[in-house]
Amino acid sequence: MKPILSIQGISKKYGFIQALKDVSFDVPEGSVYGILGPNGSGKTTLLGIVLDVLLASGGTYQWFGGMRPEDARKQIGSLLETPNFYHYLSAYDNLEITAGIRGKGLDDRIAVLKQVGLFERRDSKFLTYSLGMKQRLAIGAALLGKPKVLVLDEPTNGLDPAGIAEIRELIKKLNKEGYTIIIASHLLDEVEKVCTHVAILKKGNLLVQGPVDVVLSNEDHIEVRAADMEALKAVLEEMPGVKKIRLADNTVGVLCEAYIRPEDVNSYCFNKGIVLSHLVLKKQSLESKFIELTK
Ligand code: ADP
Repeated sequence: MKPILSIQGISKKYGFIQALKDVSFDVPEGSVYGILGPNGSGKTTLLGIVLDVLLASGGTYQWFGGMRPEDARKQIGSLLETPNFYHYLSAYDNLEITAGIRGKGLDDRIAVLKQVGLFERRDSKFLTYSLGMKQRLAIGAALLGKPKVLVLDEPTNGLDPAGIAEIRELIKKLNKEGYTIIIASHLLDEVEKVCTHVAILKKGNLLVQGPVDVVLSNEDHIEVRAADMEALKAVLEEMPGVKKIRLADNTVGVLCEAYIRPEDVNSYCFNKGIVLSHLVLKKQSLESKFIELTK
């Protein structure tokens, strides 16, 4: 798929602080792209640069295959900081003010309120909203003007668990409707649950990037059990493509080459006279990968 945003060798220095160093990656159209890293790793700086509110010290980027920046800007909705909504005004009136300030989207307020699930509550005062509803309205404001891409900085920060769940569902729904969504997050769990792609930053350096399942795939292992665990272990030690065997908690963990699938392990064992009672593909969680990468 063609990239909607292509970032090439972006660097940023704030005086002596190197906030970004030679960062390059492409955001495919239709993806939910997570920019993941601990606080201070350069996520907000990178979003600021591609949204044209910060100047890079080096490198380039193109939106939509090189569209003129002023045209590209119209296709991008962003939420970098929560807008200052008026507590005593309704969602509808707040969107009118936001649309006025940004000079776009006065005519699509109803559509936006429906998109973020606030149409029924459009006339309630902002102060009566739950945290999740307030943030849904903020995402609604980013949707004014019918953008194709949404850029969200830490969209679930400061929310309660219900609010976090609402926002994650909304992001997935908007992506299904066709929006490409770029999210900066320090939450592994969030990226794992919501994103199709990830770029991991550490102190301004890009550590790894790609589809979430590919970034994780080479560390997968297969868990197996059988009545005779010692025999199972001995058989698997001889299996071509198996790199490492670990016997723990009455389970054999098999680390193998990427081409080996769980069904290959099953049929190999069966052919050697062992019937498996348990067979599970365990993906290494992004969390352990992240900790390993950023420690
Ligand atoms: P993140 O969004 O991942 O938390 P930031 O992009 O905010 O990271 O920050 C990256 C680095 O740049 C940090 O070391 C931060 O202190 C520094 N930084 C960010 N903004 C400024 C600024 N305006 N002036 C000086 N240093 C800054």
